Amino acid sequence: MKLPAFEYACPATLAEAVALLAAAGGEAKPLAGGQSLVPMMAFRVAQPALLVDLRKLSDLRRIEITADGVRLGAMTRWRDIGDDARLAAAHPLLKAAVAHVAHYQIRNRGTVGGSVAHADPAAELPGIAVTCDAEIAVIGAAGSRLIEAKDFFIAPLVTALAADEIVTEIRLPAWPPPRRWGFQEFSRRRGDFAMAAAAVFYDLDVAGKATNAHVGVIGVGDRPVRLTAAEAEINGKMADQTVSERAGQAASSEVSPHEDIHASSAYRKSLVGTMVERALLAASARH
Ligand SMILES: Cc1cc2nc3c(=O)[nH]c(=O)nc-3n(C[C@H](O)[C@H](O)[C@H](O)COP(=O)(O)OP(=O)(O)OC[C@H]3O[C@@H](n4cnc5c(N)ncnc54)[C@H](O)[C@@H]3O)c2cc1C
Repeated sequence: MKLPAFEYACPATLAEAVALLAAAGGEAKPLAGGQSLVPMMAFRVAQPALLVDLRKLSDLRRIEITADGVRLGAMTRWRDIGDDARLAAAHPLLKAAVAHVAHYQIRNRGTVGGSVAHADPAAELPGIAVTCDAEIAVIGAAGSRLIEAKDFFIAPLVTALAADEIVTEIRLPAWPPPRRWGFQEFSRRRGDFAMAAAAVFYDLDVAGKATNAHVGVIGVGDRPVRLTAAEAEINGKMADQTVSERAGQAASSEVSPHEDIHASSAYRKSLVGTMVERALLAASARH
């Protein structure tokens, strides 16, 4: 399908990009990898009058690893995360989840900023951001601000971003090395969006019991969420098979998934419990 007509700008600075978006009064959209926006335009789901291409903003394509955690510049591509060997230690959960994103060609162009701004409820990175208490740095005409991931995703394809705001960075808190973690996803084919997926991690207290449990899921609601009842099943316990099963059951009870052409609500409810249980079993098997 042909795209609807649009104007095109390719600013050389972030300030210029923000000014272009602000001047368009909600009729412009940033263009990053184009892997979601271009199909949406082809299907007339989005019809921006102006595309503001971010490709010259090379400062936004970077992965920084410090004692405070991992900072992903918004123009970081999936491929960059896959290629960065440092992330295996600095954030193994991120690396494992991103390995499930899309297919080769899309991974070569798609960006982390585009993914969070697009806010697909089945996308991996928004799920990791919510699970890991990430912050999303944005800049607009009114200045810069940091938005907690849990407040950023509002509904399918709806975020807390204002029309003139650009995501500049996703900040993931530091990852202590002994942390136990797991990521499990079920999709119809490798690279497809998740029908359901679970990201889990917890730390160990001096007695070897789980503490600080985080359980996040995607594909089973209108945005990524943490499941507090499942987390409560884990905290303070030795994370064994029984605890994993109970947390999986709690996760199933905690979600009210939608029904679509791929699966019924009941199927997804059951599936998410299995994903949580398997992710926890993988976590407890890591030493
Ligand atoms: C066949 C197919 C399979 C896919 N499978 C998966 C999958 O399994 N998992 C997954 O997570 N994704 C999947 N994707 C989506 C892919 O990962 C996209 O790359 C990603 O969602 C959007 O990134 P992008 O850089 O291409 O953004 P674009 O398509 O350029 O933009 C997407 C949206 O974000 C906005 N935007 C882009 N950058 C910014 C920014 N810095 N600040 C503010 N707004 C911005 C745009 O205006 C637009 O609204 C798939 C896509 C396709 C076509």
